[in-house]
Amino acid sequence: MREQQSGKTIDTPAKRINVWKEADVVVVGGGPGGVGAAVSAARSGAKTVLIERYGHLGGMATGGLVNIIPNMTDWSGKQHIFGITQELIDRLEKRDSVSYPKKADWGTTDRKVVDYYLDAGLGWFYVRKDLNIGRERVLYTAVVDPEVLKDELNDMVRESGAHLLLHSWGTEPLMEGTAAKGVVFESKSGRQAILAKVVIDSTGDGEIAIASGASFDGSLDPALRTSKLAIVFWLTNVDIASCEEFRASHPEEYSRLMKELLALDGHPHYFKGILQSQERCVWFHFFQSHPDGKACDPMDVEELTMMDVRARKRALITYEFFKKHIPGFERSFIMLTAPQLGIQGGRRIIGEYTLTERDMESDEVFSDTIAVLANNDFGEVSALHPALCVPFRCLVPKRIDGLLVACRAFSSADSINHCFNIIPHCLSYGQAAGCAAAMAAKAGIEPRNVDYRELRDRLVAQGVKLP
Ligand SMILES: Cc1cc2nc3c(=O)[nH]c(=O)nc-3n(C[C@H](O)[C@H](O)[C@H](O)COP(=O)(O)OP(=O)(O)OC[C@H]3O[C@@H](n4cnc5c(N)ncnc54)[C@H](O)[C@@H]3O)c2cc1C
Repeated sequence: MREQQSGKTIDTPAKRINVWKEADVVVVGGGPGGVGAAVSAARSGAKTVLIERYGHLGGMATGGLVNIIPNMTDWSGKQHIFGITQELIDRLEKRDSVSYPKKADWGTTDRKVVDYYLDAGLGWFYVRKDLNIGRERVLYTAVVDPEVLKDELNDMVRESGAHLLLHSWGTEPLMEGTAAKGVVFESKSGRQAILAKVVIDSTGDGEIAIASGASFDGSLDPALRTSKLAIVFWLTNVDIASCEEFRASHPEEYSRLMKELLALDGHPHYFKGILQSQERCVWFHFFQSHPDGKACDPMDVEELTMMDVRARKRALITYEFFKKHIPGFERSFIMLTAPQLGIQGGRRIIGEYTLTERDMESDEVFSDTIAVLANNDFGEVSALHPALCVPFRCLVPKRIDGLLVACRAFSSADSINHCFNIIPHCLSYGQAAGCAAAMAAKAGIEPRNVDYRELRDRLVAQGVKLP
């Protein structure tokens, strides 16, 4: 139930605030987009500050317990995403904190491999039916340990030379006309400012860009993944073999119980934890539609509160039901609920170029391509066009200078955003934005005017594969 608002307004007094630092590049938000941006800007020689509202980096990939990095190959097994994403996976591998199909199995139709992922409930992340051959194939997708990921991201940012400030909430851009000159942020140390030649908005929601006056598209199709809020939680001490035996020997009973759980507003699907040492762990990701059937609004604090309260209630209903009724769950317990409510989509800025479904069918290699992404989710279209190029202009808001957007709020129609806003994609946008921001800061030019050939060469030198 929405609270009645008072209807009153007040003026707050203007206040002189401390300039905490002057930098070349300030990045707001330390999720996949922000980490990619900060690391890339600092490695490109820019004096860089990264501010993040929570006490850890990774955004949804860690705080949201969304620990799956999918779609790095297309159906055939050809890898498209490299750069910082691949580097991160290599770093996690050294710490035994990542799991993915071995290279020889990318694109395989081998039933044993396909079934391993289907059986874990992870088909959406790992398996696609290749319409060209009529068979299911395995993608290169990695699951990562979110706790090790937090530590590794801290290391990566620190090693890059970027200055990290946690527990700091970017609240507004500092504007001179239509040019961003820095940001104001709030923390336990009070209200302070960071001045910068380029601001990168990696808040996920395009919060800073939109506050700077950038136009945006907030439309969300209630049928799409991006219009739902979600919670993830992990149950452990589960005897998965007993549960599977029960499912196999009593399929009708299991199905009846799951229907009963659904009627109680619980969630009947889990993924098997496939990380090392997670043999007794299952993951629940449940997506919540708005009770009124409309798209959820991740910018409405009352709605966020209502959905978070509801999600946690549903998590407990689910846990208690499994524990009581499903063999194997008797001694289970909730290991962790994601501290962050899952937000999958929302407002997208209107950039110098807006990616739409038409782009998937054109095979256009833009003259300013900064990322090539596997196109795995559009059936017949994916069969004919296995990859999609993303131009740098999708990160440049129209009319606003000194600012780039490197997160899921990149300029795109919601019909395309829902498939190209995930972790490896946002890392790629961040890597490109950080590099461009460093170039712009050094040359004293607007980010929109950086020399694309030089940007391309620099990204390629950083391990990004571009056409
Ligand atoms: C339940 C669920 C399951 C998903 N599953 C997958 C999956 O398996 N694989 C996958 O790749 N993707 C998945 N996604 C999508 C994916 O998590 C996101 O699209 C991706 O994390 C977006 O990255 P981002 O950097 O744009 O934003 P985020 O990950 O949201 O990061 C934004 C960061 O900015 C910080 N921030 C926000 N505002 C401010 C501010 N004003 N000041 C300072 N800091 C701020 C946030 O705290 C956060 O750290 C899933 C999403 C959900 C909700």
